[in-house]
Amino acid sequence: GSVIGILGGGQLGRMLAVAAGRLGLRCHVYEPGSNPPAADMAHALTTAGYEDEAALCAFARSVDVVTYEFENVPASALDLIESLVPIRPGREALRISQDRMTEKDFLTGLGLRVAPYAAVDDLAGLEAALNQTGAPAILKTRRFGYDGKGQVRIKDIAEADQAIADMGGSPSVLEGFVDFSAEISVIAARSADGAVACFDPGQNEHSDGILRRTTVPAALPASLRTDAVLLAGRILNALEYVGILGVELFVTPAGLIVNEIAPRVHNSGHWTQNGCVVDQFEQHVRAVAGWPLGDGQRHADVVMENLIGDDMDRVPELAAQANAALHLYGKAETRDGRKMGHVNFVTPLG
Ligand code: ATP
Ligand code: MG
Ligand code: MG
Repeated sequence: GSVIGILGGGQLGRMLAVAAGRLGLRCHVYEPGSNPPAADMAHALTTAGYEDEAALCAFARSVDVVTYEFENVPASALDLIESLVPIRPGREALRISQDRMTEKDFLTGLGLRVAPYAAVDDLAGLEAALNQTGAPAILKTRRFGYDGKGQVRIKDIAEADQAIADMGGSPSVLEGFVDFSAEISVIAARSADGAVACFDPGQNEHSDGILRRTTVPAALPASLRTDAVLLAGRILNALEYVGILGVELFVTPAGLIVNEIAPRVHNSGHWTQNGCVVDQFEQHVRAVAGWPLGDGQRHADVVMENLIGDDMDRVPELAAQANAALHLYGKAETRDGRKMGHVNFVTPLG
């Protein structure tokens, strides 16, 4: 059987390793941090930094294909790995999604709509950008942002000074504030031979920039459901993508606007674990290992809730509840804002 290398040992890597194990595949996890959640589920673990060339080479030589659970792997590490073994999804998807500005240019180039945006490097740049996007707006770091970190909301131009100070000199992008009626996401898959399958779009609720809840089915007219799936397919084909891609969308009266894409399994796709015969993790492993895609039809209505920080206090109650599927990540330390697990509330269809 083949061995899958996974860059990153967080909860996404852990759930990928579980899915791979079910298919009889082995996983080798590469993670610089200590006590990674994926370690228990992996057949091999390398704890080394992304600058450790010897460790990267040994890792790449021990696997048949490399995938990743987060998009910020340094390019130098990827160059080295790619000289020894294929990386799926490919480098182009990573290059584009590592930088919000590049990503928006790419999406716009495909004819998809994004919020009005402009690059910002300093105060003068921000003032010019605000003229372009209007206020309110959101200033985001181009790289390394997640869970709403590295973002500042700007109500009007008087807040520009403070916003630049808050960003601490990081190259940024300013986005006009989108007045959306809902947020949805499409978890889309493409196999090595180019077949595409999308999970049913989920409706997402965030607070403080962190995903709290995903509900399927989304409250969405059929025409927008079709738009969402078609635009995801367009992105997959343009990138000759192999694996799962998460596409976050704003629903507006004028149609769908792309917020961002993630070249990996996605938090808003966790409902698939209890709503589909083949979930997003298995679908990703299948694609990456060169298998055909599986059956991702939805067989239940699902509400997924993230368990963040103190939400772990709910676990004893949830463990006793009917139709509640718990997924805990085995993290030793509970911290504010840290994703500790999730629960899927499941209502089987008819
Ligand atoms: P993650 O990668 O964890 O999804 P992130 O740090 O990349 O998060 P974004 O997805 O850019 O953050 O933003 C987080 C949330 O903030 C969005 O889901 C949305 O609720 C809100 N938001 C972001 N950009 C805009 C915008 N231009 N207009 C309105 N709301 C926005
Ligand atoms: Mg993001
Ligand atoms: Mg997001």
